[in-house]
Amino acid sequence: MSVVAQRKLVEIRWHARAGQGAKTAANILAQAALREGKYAQSIPEFGPERRGAPMLAFNRLSDEPFYMHSGITEPDIVIVVDPHLMDTIPVTDGLKPGGWIIINTPLPPEEAQERWELKPYRVATVDASTIARETLRQDIPNVPLLGAFARVTGLLSLETLQTDTAQRLEKRFRDRPQVIEANLKALERGFNEVRWVDAKSVEIAIEGPVRIAAKGWKELVEGGIIPEPATSIMYRTGSWRLERPIFDPQKCVQCLMCWLICPDSAVILENGKVVGIDYDHCKGCGLCSLQCPPKAKALTMVLEAELNEK
Ligand code: SF4
Ligand code: SF4
Repeated sequence: MSVVAQRKLVEIRWHARAGQGAKTAANILAQAALREGKYAQSIPEFGPERRGAPMLAFNRLSDEPFYMHSGITEPDIVIVVDPHLMDTIPVTDGLKPGGWIIINTPLPPEEAQERWELKPYRVATVDASTIARETLRQDIPNVPLLGAFARVTGLLSLETLQTDTAQRLEKRFRDRPQVIEANLKALERGFNEVRWVDAKSVEIAIEGPVRIAAKGWKELVEGGIIPEPATSIMYRTGSWRLERPIFDPQKCVQCLMCWLICPDSAVILENGKVVGIDYDHCKGCGLCSLQCPPKAKALTMVLEAELNEK
């Protein structure tokens, strides 16, 4: 049994983008823990944005009852569903020294540890996106990561996760058993294909109970006040993008509907005409492309992954 598995309360934080299945995976994980007789919790945390936006999900697993219902600031385990977040979000914030970080990436764990300066942590990597594409025919890497989690932490058995994954999907895919089978295959491959840095090479520090550093309500900024206006320009929502709108000026009829509808003001206008897209701030929601008149079709959404391959 791993050292993490010996702790009474284990806290897990998922980093993903909305639409990658982290909420579902956290639910399955909690259900499986309950089935194994543990106390468990699963909480998603979404921002105000939609598909493609960074989001969090939290799990608490324990052998004893616990009473916290907050987000997790000092996790024992971090699971990174979208590897691009490694460069844009401080995913290791609060992660305890010696804690696990499980990353969806084709990189070997030693290379990942070097590249993202993860020396104080136990690093595991699994190419969950490739597994998902090969088994599920789409890049939804949550289920292979659950398999990887079971293998490296020893907190839950593969068999229990298989039971709960199947049960969860049965409601939705009752008439498509091949989808359930593909997910179980993805789970098993995540379990078998995860690699990790030799655990003996890091010191494990097990801390006492979790502290929650939250501000009192009197210290918080009053609601409705914007203390520093125009900071949204500094926030590069372009890093959230899974799909990119490609603008074709030859087809554009300058109806300006894309400019009107874009929630991030990412459609660039010059002298009253659309001239392109601000990719630093376009988050790839696709609304502009939907609004573009079918006869013009001047905006086409293309997967970022496809563009990167070219
Ligand atoms: S996809 Fe279009 S509507 Fe959405 S943020 Fe980008 S430019 Fe704006
Ligand atoms: S909606 Fe399409 S046609 Fe209209 S301005 Fe935008 S890109 Fe051009």
